[in-house]
Amino acid sequence: DAGGNGNSTLGKVKPSNSEKSHVKKPVEEKIKIGFSMDTLLEERWLKDRDLFKKSVESLGAEVEILAANGDDSVQIAQAETLISQGVDLLVVVPHNAEAMAAIVKKAHLAGIKVMAYDRLVKNADIDLYVSFDNEKVGELQAKVITKLVPKGRYVYIGGAETDNNAHLFKKGVFEVLQPLINKGDITVVFDQWSKDWTPANARTNMEEALKANHNQIDAVIAANDATAGGVIQALTSQGLAGKIPVAGQDAELSGVQRIVQGTQIMTVYKPIKLLTEEAAKLAVRMAKGEEIEANRKINNGKIEVQSVLLSPIAVDKRNIDETIIRDGFHSKEEVYHIK
Ligand code: BGC
Repeated sequence: DAGGNGNSTLGKVKPSNSEKSHVKKPVEEKIKIGFSMDTLLEERWLKDRDLFKKSVESLGAEVEILAANGDDSVQIAQAETLISQGVDLLVVVPHNAEAMAAIVKKAHLAGIKVMAYDRLVKNADIDLYVSFDNEKVGELQAKVITKLVPKGRYVYIGGAETDNNAHLFKKGVFEVLQPLINKGDITVVFDQWSKDWTPANARTNMEEALKANHNQIDAVIAANDATAGGVIQALTSQGLAGKIPVAGQDAELSGVQRIVQGTQIMTVYKPIKLLTEEAAKLAVRMAKGEEIEANRKINNGKIEVQSVLLSPIAVDKRNIDETIIRDGFHSKEEVYHIK
């Protein structure tokens, strides 16, 4: 039979079947994962979508993917749809770290476990969090920049305040900057979030930073390559692109091309393929009710969330080939043969 009680962890039995009163599926049916994404606007999320699908399918399971265009109510409605379809596990990239807590409750009521993917859901009983070490991302950015500019006037262009990762990135940056700030070597002359991570909002922030400081800025740390792109547009219009080092994150093609051109100093490469493989493996295991091993615990305001965090890698001009290109993240032609 299907395992009797809802806590069964027997082999390939899907315990969620017996917990969900409204769905009774035969045990031998394919595991189905629901993947609720915030957005597909940035290049990385297209990779996440495609590689996650591939990984799930290679494990003999299937996945239904919905993306919400950065709209909380759309994301909540889409996640509800996946829950009512009776998926075996819900994987969520929340647009808003707090708003998706409601969905975790609903999923649990339906006997469906929830994995937070890349971004944590705050104040919710999340079953597992799979991401990169996001504080480390900020540390890597700040280490590279402070080596290059050990003293001076710094600008921090943050990500979306609604994204928990934006806070972790910033925390990592300031962990490195703070001792230098205390010594009086570095002054942070501007520090703002960029709503929804858009290049346009980052550009507006950077324009303000330049204006308020009469262009007297020595280094910029931008939370990702999208925002770095906005920053560099603002610098370009002041004739300063390439003169003030800018750090970013994601190893987006345009970011890596800017590193080659010299307008961006570094990016942080997060091997998305590894993330999708890890997340898919764990998602399928959880959906089958199997034990999973997490290497970290992260507090989300409510509980210590079982977490698996992968390592990000700092990339500048010197190691593009042995990281991004070697992994096939981008091709050599794309990176170097810029029209
Ligand atoms: C991700 C970054 C991404 C940003 C904007 C963050 O949560 O970790 O890789 O650039 O969201 O989409």
